[in-house]
Amino acid sequence: MADLDTRMNAVKEGIARLAALAAPEHQREAGELAEAMTRELDSAIAEAGAKETVHDTASPMPRGPRHEEIRCPVCSLRSFRFQKGTLRRSEDSNSGFEAFFHCLSCGHEAWHEAL
Ligand SMILES: [Zn+2]
Repeated sequence: MADLDTRMNAVKEGIARLAALAAPEHQREAGELAEAMTRELDSAIAEAGAKETVHDTASPMPRGPRHEEIRCPVCSLRSFRFQKGTLRRSEDSNSGFEAFFHCLSCGHEAWHEAL
């Protein structure tokens, strides 16, 4: 993972340098593209880290899911709310994490993939 980090950081640096080389009239566009690419890389790195075995405690643990309120599987309202402090690793979920959710509408509670 450390090796991957080093390589990805080198790529990110390259992207930033490339954006700086753009002609003045393309500077803004290049900057935005560089930012988007860097974000994409960051999430790829996070995903790669999540897919590693649970024994690897070095991979960073997110503070919470990106979407704290999702659609409830029972009442289908967008009131299925992430319960703070319940985020945990899960080998079954694509994101590598799951969290406990509580529906403010119907009261349904369940573990759900943390997206
Ligand atoms: Zn519900």
